[in-house]
Amino acid sequence: MSERFKSLKEYVPGEQPRDRKYIKLNTNESPFPPPQSVIDAAARETECSNLYPDPTYKDLREALASAFEVEPSNIAVANGSDEILSFAFTAFCDSATGAVFPDITYGFYEVFSALHTIPHTCIPLREDFSILPEDYKNAKGTIFIANPNAPTGLALSSDKIESILSSNRQNVVVIDEAYVDFGAESSVPLIRKYPNLIVVGTFSKSRSLAGARLGYAVASNELIKDIDKIRYSNNPYNVSRATAAAGIAALSEQRYYEENIAAIKKTRALLLEKLSSLGFFCTDSMANFVFARHPMLSGEECYRLLKENGVLVRHFSSPRTDDYVRITVGSESEINKLSETLAQILRNKNNEG
Ligand SMILES: *Cc1c(COP(=O)(O)O)cnc(C)c1O
Repeated sequence: MSERFKSLKEYVPGEQPRDRKYIKLNTNESPFPPPQSVIDAAARETECSNLYPDPTYKDLREALASAFEVEPSNIAVANGSDEILSFAFTAFCDSATGAVFPDITYGFYEVFSALHTIPHTCIPLREDFSILPEDYKNAKGTIFIANPNAPTGLALSSDKIESILSSNRQNVVVIDEAYVDFGAESSVPLIRKYPNLIVVGTFSKSRSLAGARLGYAVASNELIKDIDKIRYSNNPYNVSRATAAAGIAALSEQRYYEENIAAIKKTRALLLEKLSSLGFFCTDSMANFVFARHPMLSGEECYRLLKENGVLVRHFSSPRTDDYVRITVGSESEINKLSETLAQILRNKNNEG
């Protein structure tokens, strides 16, 4: 191992255990399968897997451009949005231009800073976990903001994003919209006005394709050229044929996804109601997960007792998130099972005194 990476702390993905069957509410996947047309498109394209894919991904970029009402030159594609984020750290940060992001956010931003040996500045969220645009005025580096934020689920309005953009014209601003479809406003329309904006998106969450690995960036032509330069220098064939075909097919299934999103929002409301009646405090999540704490249970205890009872959720053991668990909004029956299990855990806890 090279000296500079001996102490690197890698990203730890949510566990995917195989020792027993769990109700999996720990990695924000969709409870709904991809539509049949997407499965068929991927299967058809697999027949040509002896040939490399088109490294320009012309068809996929055209389909994304038409969905977002931009030009194909405003789109770059990647093997999951994590890869686009990694390209952005390479393209827009160095030892002089560091990365700037909230103290509580997607854990990968810190890992990418370390991997690309980029200094980073964390800006603390306010006490209520909100992001204040003033805190980012003339930031010292490239800004990374997840909107909605993870794991808090809180969203920023377009006006607030715009105020960050207009006070950082000298900086690139990356808005990670992994969860935007579950209730936040997209910043894509702002790319016309702000050549310093990159919006990053994924097919992993609302489009039921976490296993296919497909992400994209929407930005000015100039920033896309920079991202693509890094993409060609890493892996020009970064998206498989099957995944590119699945992505194109997914873009013409808007109705199917809208229905699923509506169902997830309804289940989210149900979950928040059940948690609050059990005594949990929850943030006002605009994502497909909730972030919750209970006065009688530490986050770690809640995570552990749920796991013992066959339900997986996520716990982040940093000082400000220690009391919380993040729970994916699964299917209605999974959420019912979760809340019954939590009720039992709390009853046992009370009986212990
Ligand atoms: C899930 C997630 C991603 C990564 O998604 P992939 O496209 O599956 O790589 C990026 N950002 C945030 C905030 C996420 O939660």
